[in-house]
Amino acid sequence: ASAGSFRGARALQLTLAVIKPDAVAHPLILEALHQQILENRFIIVQSKDLVWKRKDSEKFYAEHSGRFFYQRLVEFMSSGPMRAYILARKDAVSYWRELMGPTKVYRARHVAPGTLRAQYGLTDTRNTTHGSDSIESAMREIAFFFPEFQAHEWIEREEPFFRVGL
Ligand code: UDP
Repeated sequence: ASAGSFRGARALQLTLAVIKPDAVAHPLILEALHQQILENRFIIVQSKDLVWKRKDSEKFYAEHSGRFFYQRLVEFMSSGPMRAYILARKDAVSYWRELMGPTKVYRARHVAPGTLRAQYGLTDTRNTTHGSDSIESAMREIAFFFPEFQAHEWIEREEPFFRVGL
């Protein structure tokens, strides 16, 4: 099945969430973000700690090449360890994006003070977390971080056991 066949039809969604180097560098912030994942009833399907080389960073953020923040972003994302999660939940993609809050930390503090970026972000670049912005991005990004993971098989196998209230 293609990624498109997931749209709307299913209760269970997967998303890719990443705790970025600024937050991993601070154990209490890393712990606070991990707790948020648990408290919000995400299923942690897989997680791993990893460090990007500069070329990984450039590839992942290729769509932003040419933007004023691209070099800064690429450097930051390859500056130290990250933690990546495959998360499952009802409406996982939008739910995690909501929890993170707006991209820019100063804006987040203004319009969405309870969000992760507002609470823990340092700058517009060092903004604690990444989250896929659509189901299609989630499938692509999960494959980027977890190349051996079979997303479609996982959903086919697990969805019958998934409680919609989650
Ligand atoms: N970013 C930045 N300055 C900006 C906008 C974005 O440094 O003005 C960085 C920031 O780390 C952000 C990432 O680039 O998370 C990707 O940007 P995107 O617009 O995709 O935002 P996101 O989906 O992460 O909210």
